Amino acid sequence: MSTTVPIGLGIPDAPPPILAPRRKTRQIFVGPVGMGSEHPISVQSMCTTKTHDVNATLQQIAQLTASGCDIVRVACPKPVDAEALPAIARKSPIPVVADIHFQPKYIFQAIDAGCAAIRVNPGNIKEFDGRVKEVAKAAGDAGIPIRIGVNGGSLDKRLLEKYGKATPEALVESATWEAGLFEEHGFGDIAISVKHSDPVLMVEAYRQLAEVTDYPLHLGVTEAGPKFMGTIKSSVAFGALLSQGIGDTIRVSLSADPVEEIKVGDQILQALNLRPRKLEIVSCPSCGRAQVDVYKLAEEVTAGLEGMEFPLRVAVMGCVVNGPGEARDADLGVASGNGKGQIFVKGEVVKTVPEAKIVETLIEEAMRIAEEDGLEAVEGTKAEVRVTK
Ligand code: SF4
Repeated sequence: MSTTVPIGLGIPDAPPPILAPRRKTRQIFVGPVGMGSEHPISVQSMCTTKTHDVNATLQQIAQLTASGCDIVRVACPKPVDAEALPAIARKSPIPVVADIHFQPKYIFQAIDAGCAAIRVNPGNIKEFDGRVKEVAKAAGDAGIPIRIGVNGGSLDKRLLEKYGKATPEALVESATWEAGLFEEHGFGDIAISVKHSDPVLMVEAYRQLAEVTDYPLHLGVTEAGPKFMGTIKSSVAFGALLSQGIGDTIRVSLSADPVEEIKVGDQILQALNLRPRKLEIVSCPSCGRAQVDVYKLAEEVTAGLEGMEFPLRVAVMGCVVNGPGEARDADLGVASGNGKGQIFVKGEVVKTVPEAKIVETLIEEAMRIAEEDGLEAVEGTKAEVRVTK
């Protein structure tokens, strides 16, 4: 049966509400990616490959790019890594940031290599003070911003002695002190991060920093942990800050494939309406009233629609109690019961199918909606019917 039900696809007429306006910042550019209050919040990650393994690094950058990464960082611990930077910067489809610790000389190599930005750590760049003028001039001439990346685990010894540990005040003082060194030389193309592994401490540090500077802020809970714990810590901390308008670029740090970091970061921004929502699965937690395996159904629908890039809210409900209500608010939905699934499109039942056909029917309907609206899933979509028996 064909349907003539009008389909809104969840595309709002007005911009979706956000919790707070962005904090006003100065604007910088990391390659073509604008960073600051006038630009969308970017999501970044860091390669886990050895940078000197150019092919492996470029392959991982390609995977990150395909998953939606805006900016990628690479480590530069050895001369061979610095030597690999020109090839990586030239071939990467997204801007490459060189992560420099300990050795100021690599900063100059990274600038010459065509990297889009440099990250330095004020806690460990030895004899850095003496070369700030040189660094500021080289970065300024090349139009390359510098991220001052303070980290609770590698705080400047002077500040550790002064504060006793990596307090929010210590992190902020380290960052502003370093920024001041560059400012003395007329260089203000700066982003700042004050990462800590404790989300509460991290949030407080960024709040304090946001009060005293207008530089764009790079958010991160450092060493956040494995995928589950790290996702929770990062989501809570970023949510607290972004809901106050604080944060211009984010990096979720997980002990996991960096592609996972991009997925989590993207979802955090989507959940806060700071990025357009794409596929959204609304599924019930199930209960004693459920007449289907809701977990399996939700997972299969999610897997089957993975990669769809248009805004689509899909409700997967275990029974008819809340099913029709949720389905009415969704673009597409199912309310299950008695071995069958009622398929909803914009709140109207368009068909009833046997339980075994629910997943494939939802996926077919989703694809039909996309086609009818003239929207196509972008290149790389994995949308297909995948039913686990
Ligand atoms: S929709 Fe039905 S099965 Fe799901 S939680 Fe609500 S009452 Fe339980």
